[in-house]
Amino acid sequence: MRDFSRGPEHLAINQWTTRPWSLEQAIEGYARHGVRGIAVWRDKLAELGIARAVGMLKVHDMTVTGLCRAGLFPAADDAGRRAAIEENKRAIDEAVAIGARCVIIVGGGLPAGSKDIAGAHAQVRDGLAEILPYARAAKMPLALEPLHPMFAADRAVVNTLTHANDLCDALGAGLGVAVDVYHVWWDPNLEREIKRAGRARLLAFHVCDWLVPTTDLMLDRGMMGDGVIDIRKIRGWMEETGYAGFSEVEIFSARNWWQRPMDEVVRVCIERHRTVV
Ligand code: ZN
Repeated sequence: MRDFSRGPEHLAINQWTTRPWSLEQAIEGYARHGVRGIAVWRDKLAELGIARAVGMLKVHDMTVTGLCRAGLFPAADDAGRRAAIEENKRAIDEAVAIGARCVIIVGGGLPAGSKDIAGAHAQVRDGLAEILPYARAAKMPLALEPLHPMFAADRAVVNTLTHANDLCDALGAGLGVAVDVYHVWWDPNLEREIKRAGRARLLAFHVCDWLVPTTDLMLDRGMMGDGVIDIRKIRGWMEETGYAGFSEVEIFSARNWWQRPMDEVVRVCIERHRTVV
């Protein structure tokens, strides 16, 4: 039997899980509970400032599991596509500055008014191809995160790990994947595709749960153990493949968890990480 009794040193929290907290409060709050991994959001980073963030991360010995987020490539015109490329380069620079392990990449949805999903797929591929040399030069891995197909129109046209792996095959070094159970748990090919990704490409593992019913597709993610995802099985596939990084809790929950005291949220994350992740 595999040993699943890992402590909070293998637990990271995506700071949107405690969205009411500033980055400063999140770093201090997680550290207070013994959590040493954090995924940082760019807007919260901008509020605190990179220099202060770097200092605080260091003081609290905090690993940045990822910077959220970049990508969002498809646009209606050339100016929009250029702007997206520049924004991605800024994200890579920020990730380097704070020592993030990767930049989380979300493909982007259909441009406004478009029905051309094949065109959007091509724009994601072309955008990634364009920023990859910059990312490689910066030694900053890009973690392409497939999102659940319900987000294809407005957020991400890369919806399966198969598609993400195909892009990694096509584009080469510097591009890997983020496996978020919320987005991929339903996929009959998930185990095969995690193994296909292989150790080098598995850059991040995000956990939460799928509630039945889910009342808000974006903002009603469940706490691990409260839904139908066999998280431990998926984590097992990750680890059999060689993934040894953090399990990162990423819960967007406007009506439930964001309404509670944030210290309680962190405590429950630690407890559920121990019992069901
Ligand atoms: Zn995620």
